[in-house]
Amino acid sequence: MDGHHDFIIMIDALRHDYLTPEVTPYLYNLKLQGVHATVTETYAFQTRPAFFAGLEPDESQICTLYEYNVQDSPFAFLRPFEPFLSVIDSLSLDKYLRGVIRRMAKRQAKKLGHHAAADVMGTEQIPLSLLSFFALSEKVYTDDNDAFAPHVTFFDLLREKRKSWAWIGYPRHFGSSESILSAYYEAEPADVVYLHFSELDWIGHRFGPDSKERREALLKIDQAVKSLLVPSLKAGKRAVIFGDHGMVNVEYELDLKKILKKLPLRTPDDYLSFLDSTQARFWFFTPEAEQTVRAALMALDGGHILEDSERKKLHVDFKHRRYGDLVFALDGPGIIHPSYFSKGGPAPKGMHGYLPHIEDNKTQVLAVGEGIESQERGLIEMVQIYELLKESLLTR
Ligand SMILES: [Zn+2]
Repeated sequence: MDGHHDFIIMIDALRHDYLTPEVTPYLYNLKLQGVHATVTETYAFQTRPAFFAGLEPDESQICTLYEYNVQDSPFAFLRPFEPFLSVIDSLSLDKYLRGVIRRMAKRQAKKLGHHAAADVMGTEQIPLSLLSFFALSEKVYTDDNDAFAPHVTFFDLLREKRKSWAWIGYPRHFGSSESILSAYYEAEPADVVYLHFSELDWIGHRFGPDSKERREALLKIDQAVKSLLVPSLKAGKRAVIFGDHGMVNVEYELDLKKILKKLPLRTPDDYLSFLDSTQARFWFFTPEAEQTVRAALMALDGGHILEDSERKKLHVDFKHRRYGDLVFALDGPGIIHPSYFSKGGPAPKGMHGYLPHIEDNKTQVLAVGEGIESQERGLIEMVQIYELLKESLLTR
């Protein structure tokens, strides 16, 4: 791609305090020149509906990566094999099958028309015998026509204005900052270019937010962003740059798997659980199972059950069961380990997806370019990034 365009740059896990003169000289300087704010993440792991359509999870119906969805599960073909898969799980032989299952589920998702889910299809560390209860929650591309109708996405508005865009990043592209840059140079020219740099996220998980590795990764992204933006900004274009969440230094571990295993209940007959890193979700099939699990969770330190009023306030009070009959959320900077995303071995050193009072879960946004004046907007909600995108890129 050549020529000049407006940019939307998403730097995954760009914590609220990451831009400094030492680590990110270019972005730090841009921040001083433009509109900037600290951003509270929606209480969801999937945040594209928030920043691209201004939607809270209870409006977009997209929250965590996986939802309970027996009917639309791309893993439904595994159902007849559940007894066999339980044995495989219990012997820890699952890793030999995960590749095959992933490929078959990918084909299945495509058949169902769930193209975004097909692109990112995996099995994480979900027990194989439970996969057929779950589906990926984000099924279509955020920039598909009317992706969240009747709500209007930023891309629906671009379409209306007959502006073209290039989407470079998750779920269509994966990989290092270099590979995102090369995808950019190969893409067709567009009025607006959206780039998603994901490297900082996985480096933050692995090495922790305060590590040297994290700072080095961010410096590389700073240089990459500079190489992209300088010519376009000089030519009078604009850019909005933000993260989808922060990165929290993990301070304690909770082995929920071990606690649940001791309960006199059977899964999936009595109940089902999904262990996300910072929350656990439960579905109950008998009243006794609910009582037993509730009592076990209430006895734990480090987390609490979200009651209805809190779920409402967090916008995760759904009218369906897809995100859990009950949600257990960590109170502080801990991690549920092992989880359906991390098996054995050491726990990740950094994590996100915490309740909004956890400061380092916050990210930041900045908007720069011709006609945008320096302004500090304090603390905003993630859904307001959508407003900032419209204000910065659609009003000219
Ligand atoms: Zn992450």
